[in-house]
Amino acid sequence: MSVTDSPTPRVARPRPKRGEGQWALGYREPLNANEQSKKDDNPLNVRARIENIYSVRGFDSIDPGDMRGRFRWWGLYTQRKPGIHGGKTATLEPEELDDRYFMMRVRIDGGQLSLEQLRTIADISVEHARDTADLTDRQNIQYHWIDVRDVPSIWERLEAVGLSTQEACGDCPRVILGSPVAGVAADEILDASSAVDAIESTYIGDKAFSNLPRKYKTAISGHPGHDVVPQINDIAFVGAVHPEHGPGLDLWIGGGLSTNPMLAQRLGVWVPLDEVPEVWEGVTSVFRDYGYRRLRSRARLKFLVADWGVEKFREVLETEYLKRSLIDFDDPGAPETPADHVGVFPQKDGKFFVGVAPSVGRVSGTLLNQIADVVEAHGSNRVRTTPMQKLLVLDVEEDKVESLIAALDELGLHARPSQFRRNTMACTGIEYCKLAIVETKERAERLVNDLAERIPDLDTPITINVNGCPNSCARIQTADIGLKGMLVLDDDGEQVEGFQVHLGGALGLDAGFGRKLRAHKVTSEHLTDYVERLVRIYLKERADGESFAR
Ligand code: SF4
Repeated sequence: MSVTDSPTPRVARPRPKRGEGQWALGYREPLNANEQSKKDDNPLNVRARIENIYSVRGFDSIDPGDMRGRFRWWGLYTQRKPGIHGGKTATLEPEELDDRYFMMRVRIDGGQLSLEQLRTIADISVEHARDTADLTDRQNIQYHWIDVRDVPSIWERLEAVGLSTQEACGDCPRVILGSPVAGVAADEILDASSAVDAIESTYIGDKAFSNLPRKYKTAISGHPGHDVVPQINDIAFVGAVHPEHGPGLDLWIGGGLSTNPMLAQRLGVWVPLDEVPEVWEGVTSVFRDYGYRRLRSRARLKFLVADWGVEKFREVLETEYLKRSLIDFDDPGAPETPADHVGVFPQKDGKFFVGVAPSVGRVSGTLLNQIADVVEAHGSNRVRTTPMQKLLVLDVEEDKVESLIAALDELGLHARPSQFRRNTMACTGIEYCKLAIVETKERAERLVNDLAERIPDLDTPITINVNGCPNSCARIQTADIGLKGMLVLDDDGEQVEGFQVHLGGALGLDAGFGRKLRAHKVTSEHLTDYVERLVRIYLKERADGESFAR
């Protein structure tokens, strides 16, 4: 072939970059069904339809677009139809998985509850939710078996005591995690409750922030113990002392787990307490305007932060939104592990708080009422939920501490629990969650009890997080032993419920994600034996002071 016969060489031209649906760059047209649904009608508007139509005419009157989309903005998801096994989860249409009842999430910003609020939650559980109530790992309470006909009266009762389900789910600012010991812990750097309250009262329900690219998780704590797991939130303000300016908060952005886990990064700035709401608004606005809306799988803030880097993020935040510079701040360090506040601790006013561990967050309305009675009988009016699925009782006089501990112990809530009970969490799982592949809560409870019996003298915390699918609601990747629900083959080659194992994850000083061990899959039936073997190997081979993760 002569030179002239050769095909014309193609000139490489840069391909036009496809937009990712960033509003600030002009991509305003909805690029997927979720974005279209939010554009068609602000999801907060669905409340009026629930009150005026759906609760009157019943389940069959609900518009599917509302039920599987906008209902979330008011804390409502359809729960899984009972009796559908995990293998069917991916193959059925959404409507085939939907039960006629709902999960309802009550947001408890900062985890702060008075006894009146606790009793209201408990009574609703007994009367409308078949006595279900789960403490989530985001300080919420979740009901199941809610009939849409009961929703308006439930709202009325919750709102009469200052509680709400508004924006408890959906592409919006979810519940704000706050230190469960804010305002009382003797060792806190500052009480950040005012910032939690200000953000909740100013921005939750504000339509300027009710259509974000995806869910948006906030954590704010003035406690030095990272008790709100800041590293896995979209935005976190963490108590820290600036050498010149004193106590304030260190800003972190871009954390999140699920299928592309990323740890939050420090922006390198210190924020005074009274400026937290303004800075929160700025960061949230950057996410709203520049966040990726084309693909749901890339819509969390973490992807924007990963692409831009923190320097560019800070520059856009300061120049386009805050119109001022933030104060530089060096790394203040981190605690070895996040504080869970289980046990007995002194308050700054001379009283004590007592942290107890229910079993993997499962409580009930009946139990919550019993807890309220015990707490009241011991002179306190305040409890708090925690991001570790635990419960705290505040303001206990020293001479009442042991009696309180004994009374709660009788209810199955332990202030001196086994290491396994203290450090095991479980997500909702197949009992109610439509995405679940396996059962979690009961399995985790059995695991905790069996391991406590088999290894009663475990002298170090080992976190075990049990998840029903890859979504990581109970933080698969940050546990010493992270368990991801999946179908596995048993010895006879049959598909059965089981788990993919991740090992060596941690939060705190040595934060990192556990390694997925492809070969390590275990059936649900053999889970206890498997975890026991892992723990015994660690105990036998550990060096002095060596933790499970590192
Ligand atoms: Fe449901 Fe999966 Fe989340 Fe568990 S991890 S609650 S199964 S979505």
